[in-house]
Amino acid sequence: RPAQALLSIDRIDTFYGETQALFDVSLRVGAGEVVALLGPNGAGKTTTLRSILGLTPARAGRIRFDGREITRASTHEIARAGVGWVPDDRRIFPTLTVARNLAIARKKSRFRAWSEKECFEIFSALEYLMHRECENLSGGEMQMVAISRALLGSPGLVLFDEPSQGLAPKVVQDVMKTITRLKAEGVAVLVVEQNVQSALEVADRVYVMNLGTVVHEGPADALRRDAALRLRLLGV
Ligand code: ATP
Repeated sequence: RPAQALLSIDRIDTFYGETQALFDVSLRVGAGEVVALLGPNGAGKTTTLRSILGLTPARAGRIRFDGREITRASTHEIARAGVGWVPDDRRIFPTLTVARNLAIARKKSRFRAWSEKECFEIFSALEYLMHRECENLSGGEMQMVAISRALLGSPGLVLFDEPSQGLAPKVVQDVMKTITRLKAEGVAVLVVEQNVQSALEVADRVYVMNLGTVVHEGPADALRRDAALRLRLLGV
């Protein structure tokens, strides 16, 4: 467990109306660390991301990012503080061009600023898509736009919600390589994944959730090596 966490979630409870979705959830992400959040459907992984982002604020407990409390901050303030988001449904404006979608995402924070040119270095195809309308893009192309958009917001931490969902295996590999690249550049990552194998390849540490609680926390290496543990916790 990192001593100086960039993100620390302490004992949060989160509700949708009267329905409690998270129960006493705690989680940490250190600066430049890649953390995977795994578990079955309905475990509360997306709700954890929504709580961090202020989309469904926690009703109890506390969330701190980069030394400041964000538990009840607005989504806008949280983004400006340096939390980037790659949503599972991408949330790209379909009738706007790639260039326009990227331009409106540009933000400054105290973290590293990324340029469009650097995004083109990561995703070589992106440069040639800039004037296309987003509704005409493939799933893999959309994912490039969604990740680039997060980077242009100068994040210290990027939250990925099932980035490999619906993508071809080759594109999944590209996404995982991008996560490794972000880590090399000092950007921390919290990634929710159904694709356990891919997540374990890139993660430093892992949390497993079930029924709204954290049921396991540990180094990714332990789950990579220990097939019995993996089977017990993740069923694979
Ligand atoms: P998945 O992989 O299916 O997205 P998850 O681990 O991300 O699973 P969540 O989406 O966080 O799980 O869901 C946690 C619980 O909250 C589930 O019981 C789900 O039915 C419930 N839930 C999620 N979104 C809402 C909502 N908008 N309104 C009411 N309940 C919701």
